[in-house]
Amino acid sequence: RALDLALSESSPATHRTQDRSAERGRMLELGSEALPAVPGAFRNTPDTDLSTPANQAWAERITHRIRGSVLGETEAEAARLETTEQVEQTVQRALEAQPVWAALPVAKRALILRRVAGTLAAHRAELLEVMASETGKTLEQGDPEVSEAIDFALYYAEQAERLAAHGDIALAPRPLTLVTPPWNFPVAIPTGGVLAALVTGSAVIMKPAPQARRCGALVGRLLHEAGVPEGVFTLVEVPEDEVGRSLIAHPAIDQLILTGAYDTATLFSTWRPELRVLAETSGKNAIIVTPQADLDLAAKDVALSAFGHAGQKCSAASLVITVGSVSRSRRFNAQLADAVLSLDVGEPVDPTVQMGPVIEPPGDKLRSGLTELGEGETWLTAPQLLDGTGRQWSPGVRIGVREGSAFHRTEYFGPVLGVMHADSLEEAVRMQNGTDYGLTAGLHSLEPAEIAWWTEHVEAGNLYVNRGITGAIVQRQPFGGWKRSAIGQTAKAGGPNYLVHLQDIADSPAVP
Ligand code: GLU
Repeated sequence: RALDLALSESSPATHRTQDRSAERGRMLELGSEALPAVPGAFRNTPDTDLSTPANQAWAERITHRIRGSVLGETEAEAARLETTEQVEQTVQRALEAQPVWAALPVAKRALILRRVAGTLAAHRAELLEVMASETGKTLEQGDPEVSEAIDFALYYAEQAERLAAHGDIALAPRPLTLVTPPWNFPVAIPTGGVLAALVTGSAVIMKPAPQARRCGALVGRLLHEAGVPEGVFTLVEVPEDEVGRSLIAHPAIDQLILTGAYDTATLFSTWRPELRVLAETSGKNAIIVTPQADLDLAAKDVALSAFGHAGQKCSAASLVITVGSVSRSRRFNAQLADAVLSLDVGEPVDPTVQMGPVIEPPGDKLRSGLTELGEGETWLTAPQLLDGTGRQWSPGVRIGVREGSAFHRTEYFGPVLGVMHADSLEEAVRMQNGTDYGLTAGLHSLEPAEIAWWTEHVEAGNLYVNRGITGAIVQRQPFGGWKRSAIGQTAKAGGPNYLVHLQDIADSPAVP
């Protein structure tokens, strides 16, 4: 069944590079009714290879549909909860459905997750369309996001079976989980959070981000289409007033899986201090470039990490810290300016575009990051507003950012990067660690001793050496942060412990 779905019309025709099409073959097998015999069969889902003519034609059809705004008209609105009574009914319905769901064998729930994977794969085009038109996500950034959502489904299915088979810890699901995903990854993050909780036997209520309601509604519809029962999973939209608060602070909610700003997560905790919040929050991420780096590669990786999705990722590079002679010579800055100015900026639906618009006209904080320079700072490339919507900017790079300055410490969440200078790697790491956050961090150096020293001293959840710092990959690079980049999270999303930390230990005399 999943095989049929995955080969249906809206999937790209032929796929990917040579070795990756083999991976796709395996994914389709996993999507079928046959369960993998052994854990460890998981393979990452390849992205669409847009170098093949067939897939280019597929992408052009998506572009065409978005331009003709054919899409979205049939997409059901999320169920809107206007009153606290409706919130109460939704919660009660979930609580009634949950025991039956939790009583199913794990293999049944895992099978439904695999069907979700097949359904997502079959709707790749529609998912890309809605992400682009609603949130401005480029096709280039949206395609890997769909792959990640599929990966979450297949990986958590497999992990749930592994845990059940392992048998040395008895885990009990938490009956009701609330998931509040962000708008910047409006497909992968809700899919991951919802499916992880579901496969443990929890019932889930999901409240999409207001800026990504249609993405949320589509994800919700696909989950139900793939066989997730009504009641066990409910998508709701609540106004951001006391009705919303009555859902988030509802005493029956056992855990909240949140991705968003640190301040939002702490606010929700004040509403109900005993609420178990598992939050992936803000970041202020830096890449260090030492004299031992391949500077061409570094400039390219910095530009893509800073300006992919217009910098609107918790994982984005917001600072680059050049060390010693890299700071003193002008070569690196020139290369960086070149890399940034050659980014293809424009409409998100154009398949070649690398940087689209920001989600909405910048608020005060981002506006200050795009327009105000701190002491000693100058623009290497000044951000320009490119259109009348207030959303399409060109990438901005400021140099001369000082340690402890506003730009050093503030998360702007937009297309602006700052360059700092350090005399030594030690000083650079002090600057890299000198923020409240610790989500992603990068080092560009080809010197093994520097890499080893850096790895020991940097304070961040996800470390990347000689590559970009965004785009964590399920199983290979589970995602999660330190310090104010995480609250209550003791396991990374897309990693082997994630399902454990969503459950309670029921009975575990043998835990070592
Ligand atoms: N997981 C994403 C990445 O590695 C970032 C998610 C986020 O911005 O919340 O780039």
